[in-house]
Amino acid sequence: MKTAETAPFRFFSLQVVRTRRLGPSLVRVTFGGDDLASFASGGRDQSLSLFLPHPGQPAPVVPVEAGDGWWAAWRALPEEIRAVMRSYTLREQRRGPDEVDIDFALHPDGGPACRWAGRAAPGDRVLLLGPAVTENTGVRFRPPAGTDSVVIWADETALPATAAILEWLPAGLRADVWIDVPHSADRQPLPTAADARITWLVREEGAPEAVAELRRFEPRGTAPYAWIAGESGTVKAVRRHLVQERGIDRRRVTFVGYWRRGLSEEQLREAATREAVAA
Ligand SMILES: Cc1cc2nc3c(=O)[nH]c(=O)nc-3n(C[C@H](O)[C@H](O)[C@H](O)COP(=O)(O)OP(=O)(O)OC[C@H]3O[C@@H](n4cnc5c(N)ncnc54)[C@H](O)[C@@H]3O)c2cc1C
Repeated sequence: MKTAETAPFRFFSLQVVRTRRLGPSLVRVTFGGDDLASFASGGRDQSLSLFLPHPGQPAPVVPVEAGDGWWAAWRALPEEIRAVMRSYTLREQRRGPDEVDIDFALHPDGGPACRWAGRAAPGDRVLLLGPAVTENTGVRFRPPAGTDSVVIWADETALPATAAILEWLPAGLRADVWIDVPHSADRQPLPTAADARITWLVREEGAPEAVAELRRFEPRGTAPYAWIAGESGTVKAVRRHLVQERGIDRRRVTFVGYWRRGLSEEQLREAATREAVAA
């Protein structure tokens, strides 16, 4: 990370302004703060890192004063003191007043971020490591030139990104979208100018699993771009299906494991580090 003044990413100190339940599985938390004047989302699946306090702490503990050395200094703090760090998507940024929304999935395995979101209240403080320029590496949804159709598979954790992507897509672009959610009432309006066919795969309604459902679909267009995000085992299976069974060029498929069943985000980061070292 570069210094706060020059980097594409920097820390923003924010407070909760309000919360709104979007359905059984998602809560929207709206944040405000003077720092947002220099926040610049690239839209689509703009990701960011959120730093949350432990219960009883007035604010998240991150040694931002260490500048470039913040990561090592944060890691050196005891786990029960240092802020909980989790990845989220910027659902929407607004000006006048400056506000940003993040939609949190409330999952039954309830990790610290999910628990924090479930009890968030106006005035609660967080730190956000996010973009100060719109062109940044936290945006992964990047259809190559010439793309004539889009294929999206997402679960509830990637529903906020999907909603923002659909708002961004150009008028008339063909988009086939599957969204896998736990409950019927998790369906939400998804405004778009694209020629979108949206299928909700509702688990409590006995929806088929992702690949079985995708096998039934007839691709539209000759230059598709696919974006897949959610639970990493399902993400891998959907990618394999699109690349190996459907023959979509792997360079035209963006896939991101947003979480892995049975592993917290720290454990996922540690596993990724071990794999990188082994490779
Ligand atoms: C780039 C990126 C963007 C993301 N954007 C969003 C977003 O906008 N909204 C959002 O809600 N999530 C998003 N996520 C996923 C989110 O970071 C994870 O779900 C995270 O694990 C939640 O942290 P936690 O503290 O609640 O649970 P953790 O402490 O990380 O995990 C505790 C337990 O809960 C399980 N778990 C985690 N998430 C789920 C889930 N959704 N359903 C069931 N079990 C789960 C874990 O496997 C583990 O067993 C994103 C992830 C990435 C990488």
